[in-house]
Amino acid sequence: MTSLLSSLNEMQKEAVLDFNNPLLVLAGAGSGKTRVITSKIAYAIKEMNYSPYRILAVTFTNKAAKEMRERINSMIPDENIAGLEMRTFHSFGAYVLRRYGSKIGLNDSFTIYDDEDSLNLLCNAFPDEKKGDLREYMKQISKAKDKGYNSSSAELNGLAYHMQGFRTYFAAYENALRKSGCVDFADLIIRTTELLEQNDDVREYFQQRFKLILVDEYQDTNASQFKLLKCLVGKDTQLVVVGDDDQSIYKFRGAEIKNILSFEYYYPNTRIIKLEENYRSTKNILRVASSVIKNNKERHDKTIFTNNESGELPELISSIDADEEALKVRMLISRLPNYKSVAILYRTNAQSREFETVLSCFRIPYEVVGALRFYEREEIKDALALFSIILNPHDRISFLRIINKPARGIGKAALEQILSYSDHLIDSLEFAIKDNKLSGKAKSGATAFLDMYKKGCELLNNNCVLKDFAVFMLDSSGLKKLYEDEKDETIRRGRLENLSSLVNALEKIAPGREGLISFLESITLDRTTLGSDDEENEDSVKLMTMHNTKGLEFDTVFVTGLEDGIMPSVREGSEIDDVEEERRLFYVAVTRAKKKLFLTFASKRMLWGSWNSQKPSRFLKEIPKSFYKGEIETANASYTNHFAFEPRRSNITNTPSWAQNIVKTPTKTKSSEVKVVKNVNYEVGDRVISPNYGRGEIISKEIKNGKTVI
Ligand code: ATP
Ligand code: MG
Repeated sequence: MTSLLSSLNEMQKEAVLDFNNPLLVLAGAGSGKTRVITSKIAYAIKEMNYSPYRILAVTFTNKAAKEMRERINSMIPDENIAGLEMRTFHSFGAYVLRRYGSKIGLNDSFTIYDDEDSLNLLCNAFPDEKKGDLREYMKQISKAKDKGYNSSSAELNGLAYHMQGFRTYFAAYENALRKSGCVDFADLIIRTTELLEQNDDVREYFQQRFKLILVDEYQDTNASQFKLLKCLVGKDTQLVVVGDDDQSIYKFRGAEIKNILSFEYYYPNTRIIKLEENYRSTKNILRVASSVIKNNKERHDKTIFTNNESGELPELISSIDADEEALKVRMLISRLPNYKSVAILYRTNAQSREFETVLSCFRIPYEVVGALRFYEREEIKDALALFSIILNPHDRISFLRIINKPARGIGKAALEQILSYSDHLIDSLEFAIKDNKLSGKAKSGATAFLDMYKKGCELLNNNCVLKDFAVFMLDSSGLKKLYEDEKDETIRRGRLENLSSLVNALEKIAPGREGLISFLESITLDRTTLGSDDEENEDSVKLMTMHNTKGLEFDTVFVTGLEDGIMPSVREGSEIDDVEEERRLFYVAVTRAKKKLFLTFASKRMLWGSWNSQKPSRFLKEIPKSFYKGEIETANASYTNHFAFEPRRSNITNTPSWAQNIVKTPTKTKSSEVKVVKNVNYEVGDRVISPNYGRGEIISKEIKNGKTVI
C-alpha cells in the first residue's frame, strides 16, 4: 500500500487499482470522483510505470484541467508530467487538428470562431436577411452539430422541420466556414472525429498512444464527444469515466444522459463502481440537497451519506427585492473571517449586477467568474482579429471586422471590389490596389493595411517576441489610437487597460507564429476565466452562475434568486424534463457548500424593465421546514424601492463587470448630488446608501434636465 492510496476509501481504491476493464464510476456530488481521476493518474505514473504521454484526461473546463494537473504534480512531485494530456474535449480537438488538420484540408493556423463570429459569418452569407432570424437558424445549426449532424444528415428532418430552408442555411454556413479556413466550437469535435475516421494512420497512432483515457463530468458529454471518444479508444486502451446523472445540466447544449446508460453496451465488460460517501458537505447541507433531488423521476436512486459533522442549519433569507437581497448577502459575508472560500451563485449572469454593486460599494473584493469573458470585449476582439488575419488571410470575419476599423476610407463599394477577387483576402487587397480599382482614400488606406500585414508577417516569421509584435500591430493599425480618443473616461480607461493586459499576457508566450497560434487558441477556448489567472485574487468572493460551479467547492455558498421563473427558470406548464434539469442544477449549486449554506429569495424583481412579483421557488417548498432556519416571507404588493446604490467609479475595489461594457456611464456623481443608478422611482423617505454620504434617507427630489436628482 502506498501513500497515494492512503487517502482513499475502499471503493475509490478499487477504481484506482483496476487496470483491466472499462470503468464507469457513478456517484453523487462530493463523493470523490475527481479525486479518483487524479489519484489514478498519479498511481499509473508512479506505480505502474505509465509514461504520462500515454494518458489522456478530459475535463469540463480549462480551469479544472489546470487545477487537476497541479494536484497530480503535488502528489508525485518527483515525476515530470509535462507529457500528460489534460484537456477539455475542445482543446483536445484543437490539438489534433493543428497537427493533422491538413489531411482534411485545414491549415495549421485555422481560426476558431466563437458564437458571435459564427453568427456574423451566416449574416455575411445572407446579407438581406434579419440578424434576429438568422440567430435562430444559427442556434439550431449549433444544436445539430452537437448531435454530430451535418447539412446532409437525414436526421435533420426531425430536428428543424419547422424552419424553412434549414438545410440551405446549414450548407451555406458550412461552406463559408470552410472557405474561411476556420472552425467553430462544434467543429473542434466533429472535424477531429472526421479526421480520425478517415485516416487510419492517425487514428491508430492515438489508439496506440493512449493506454489510459479518463473523463470527468461524463454525464455532460454530448453525442459528438461520445463519438470522438470511441475513435480514441484502442484495443489496449482502458477507458475510465466518472459522472453523476443527478448533475447533468447541459442538456440544452446536447448533453446526452444516454451516454451513461449505453456505456456498458458500447464497452462490454464494463465494471460499474459506486461511491456513496460524501466528503465535502455537512450532514445538514446534504439532506437539503437530497430532499430536493429525490423529486426527480428520471434518475438512478443513489444512497449518499456523510460522516462529516451535522454542522449549522442552512439559512433561508427572504428579501423585498434584489437590492435588499444583495445587501443582506453582503452583511452576512462581512461577518465571515475571510472571503476566500465564499461563493454567490445565481441562475443568470444578469443577476450579478446587484451583488457587484453592493460589494464594490462596501469594498469587498470579488471576482466574477466566467461572465464577461475577456476575449468577448470589443477591443480584445478587434486586437485578436488583427492578429488572426496575419495567421490566416482567409479569415473573412476577422478581415471584415478590422479592415475599416479605425476608418481607412474603405467603404462598402471598395470592400465589394476587394472581396470580388479571391478568398485569400490579402491577395485580393493587393490585386485591388494594383488594378487601380480603389478611390484615392481607399487606396491609401488599403496600402497602409497591406504594409502593416507584411511587416506583421515578417515579425512573426523572424520569431519576434509577441509583446513587440502586439505593440506594433496595435500602433500601426491605429486601434490603440482609436481607443485613446474615446471620449468617455471610464470606457477609455477600461479599454486601454484591457489592451494592456492582452499585451502583458503575451509576455509569457513563446515567440513567433507558433506562440501566437497557441495563444489565440487558449484565449478562445478558455471560457471560464475573466482575464488572466494571475490576476485571481485569492481573498475574494466568487460570483458565478450555477452552471459554472461544476466540480468546485466553497466553505460558504449563497444560492440566490430562488424564485419560480428564475430558479427554476421555467414557467407554469413547462415540460417535466426542463424542471428536472433545473432541479439538477439546484442540486449542483447546493452541493458546492462545505460548511454553510444560505438560500435566498426576493419578493420583487426587475425583469425586462418592469417589476415582477416573485413566487418562492418550488424547490424551496420541497425542503422540509425543519431542515433550515428562517421563513419564506413574501412582501406585500404595495411596493417602493428601499435601497439604491451608486458605486463610486474611481477607487472602487472592482469595476462591476456590467459597468465595463456599457456604452455610457449611467450617472456621474457630483459632490453635492447622489444620482440614481437605475430608473426606479425613489420617493422622499426611502432609505438609500451612498458611498459619499453613507446610509441615509431621501429628503428631497427634483427633476433637472430630465434627470432625477435626489
Ligand atoms: P463533484 O460531483 O461535485 O464533482 P466529486 O465526486 O468529484 O464531486 P471530489 O471533488 O473528488 O468529489 O471530492 C470532494 C471533496 O472530498 C474534495 O475536497 C476531496 O478532496 C474530498 N475527498 C474525496 N475523497 C476523499 C477521501 N477518501 N477522504 C477524504 N476526503 C476525500
Ligand atoms: Mg468532480
